[in-house]
Amino acid sequence: MAQKFIPLSVPNLKGRELEYVTNAVETEWVSTGGSYINKFEDSIASYLHLEQAVACQSGTAGLHLALKLSDVGPNDEVIVPSLTFIAAVNPVTYCGADPVFMDCDDTLNMDTDKLIRFVEQECKVDNGQLINRKTGKGIKAILVVHIFGNLLDMERVMNVAQKYNIKVIEDATESLGSYYTDGKYKGKYAGTVGDFGVYSFNGNKIITTGGGGMLVGANQNLMDKAKYLSTQAKDDGLYYTHNEVGYNYRMTNVQAAIGLAQLEQLEQFIAVKERNYYLYQEKIQDIPGLRLLEFNYSTRPNYWFYSLIVDGKAYGIKRDELITSLHNKGIQTRPIWGLIHQQKPYKNNQAYQIEKANYYVENVINIPCSSNLTEEQVDSVVNCLTSIQARSDHHG
Ligand SMILES: *Cc1c(COP(=O)(O)O)cnc(C)c1O
Repeated sequence: MAQKFIPLSVPNLKGRELEYVTNAVETEWVSTGGSYINKFEDSIASYLHLEQAVACQSGTAGLHLALKLSDVGPNDEVIVPSLTFIAAVNPVTYCGADPVFMDCDDTLNMDTDKLIRFVEQECKVDNGQLINRKTGKGIKAILVVHIFGNLLDMERVMNVAQKYNIKVIEDATESLGSYYTDGKYKGKYAGTVGDFGVYSFNGNKIITTGGGGMLVGANQNLMDKAKYLSTQAKDDGLYYTHNEVGYNYRMTNVQAAIGLAQLEQLEQFIAVKERNYYLYQEKIQDIPGLRLLEFNYSTRPNYWFYSLIVDGKAYGIKRDELITSLHNKGIQTRPIWGLIHQQKPYKNNQAYQIEKANYYVENVINIPCSSNLTEEQVDSVVNCLTSIQARSDHHG
């Protein structure tokens, strides 16, 4: 019997979303003003133990503002990972700056050894500014991504950044709720360590507003500036005086209404994702050739996405055939993103010693991980992984 389709990751809107949206519509506060926006900002700030958060139309918009406020402009460079979603990097280009691509390590996050090597061996300090020897351009910022909810070692990143006086932007779009449980940043959430942190509420993120984002940062004045820039840089709301070029990046009240209801359920979503992660892990460890990527020690991850590493030789089936076989059984999986330094707009940019990313891009798939995925569905996925392999054994 054909089983019901199991999607990779879908929204879960069974809380008070409809109630809050109905209220926003009934009161006719549907645009970029209204009480849900402030409530959502305050709730996110309080969840993250921060003073302030600035709601945006998307995570991409939040990253753009973070780069602007880090003073990134034409002729600057920003260090970024190659193995991530391209939305993390495009805002660097919006600022007229150039990304410099780094490799990943075995956690899929930016390899901090290589980051340090790049800065110490390939760059020099000139007039107090870090300069890339190869291009002669100044490096203004490091943009790191906590991939799939797995926290990167921010202690090492902050040490380099402070030593060379460069800004750190944390793309925490995939890692809302992940925090450190030990070390210098014990108790700190993803996105709250660097100069700026950005979250996304796109459809497949751990909580969603349909589309939306949130910017946080250590400097209150810059947060006020972010809000100002996100609302068309209006210096006088009555006479429309503008002293800077702003953006239409403010979140709407309808989005925020959904977000507020979603945030109320975040810890429940994380609990389900954690339970399912360990169910998968326990069963997958008995299947030769398959391994579930671990989350880093000394952290409480949000378990957003599960990465299955497929050793095609040991498993008996190549990664891409596995994706097709699972698809035929009604299970949606997908390969990890294509490396960004190989994408057409970035082919001519510098990429520093990319090695591991080439391996992971060819051997990882993401398996179903929705926050409403049941134990039975986890079992079905695992049974398919087992039966697909058994069939391959049979055919030799
Ligand atoms: C989702 C995501 C973004 C972009 O967020 P949007 O809200 O879709 O603009 C940026 N970076 C990474 C790593 C993401 O996964």
